[in-house]
Amino acid sequence: MIKEQIKLPVMEAFYTIQGEGHFSGNSAYFIRLGGCDVGCVWCDVKDSWNADQWPKQSVEEIVSMVNKSPTRLAVITGGEPLMYDLTNLTEALHTSGLQTNVETSGAHPVSGNWDWICFSPKKFMKPREEFYQVADELKVVIYNKSDFEWAEAHAAQVRPDCLLYLQPEWDKSEKMLPEIINYVKDNPQWKISLQTHKFMNIP
Ligand code: SF4
Repeated sequence: MIKEQIKLPVMEAFYTIQGEGHFSGNSAYFIRLGGCDVGCVWCDVKDSWNADQWPKQSVEEIVSMVNKSPTRLAVITGGEPLMYDLTNLTEALHTSGLQTNVETSGAHPVSGNWDWICFSPKKFMKPREEFYQVADELKVVIYNKSDFEWAEAHAAQVRPDCLLYLQPEWDKSEKMLPEIINYVKDNPQWKISLQTHKFMNIP
């Protein structure tokens, strides 16, 4: 039972295949919430930044959309989805038997009950300390060589069972992927994450 109607700015919502990270290859219903104040220079969803331009939908409406698909995996992304208190959304998704995954920069307080937290810290806004304890997956975007050292500084703070992924920034992929391949061969605690949805031409 949804206790109160909280409306969230939904930039887009679509049924697709998760392309990145640990759940890569799984069917998933994506909810992309509008609003982000992190300001990554290479952001590929800059349209998401201004929350005001996206229609607000109730938790009930969002869950009803997800329930029209056969998947039982909901991925909440952005933007920066944790700019909002997502307690009611995760509660309602769970009530419908859905798994709740979130993709976050960790720049805002964690809220909601998550089955999987993909923590992707960004240089442009310091993540909050609490994310090192709650992250199930650390995904660091590699834009240049100095990012490897930056990735290790975050990896040193997460739980021992947190999965570690390095992902080339899409436009730097040609240059950085060979570096990442060599790095993972030398440091096998890391895995490579690719934006496979872009290769598949799906959202
Ligand atoms: Fe873009 Fe994500 Fe960075 Fe926000 S945190 S600016 S949505 S890449």
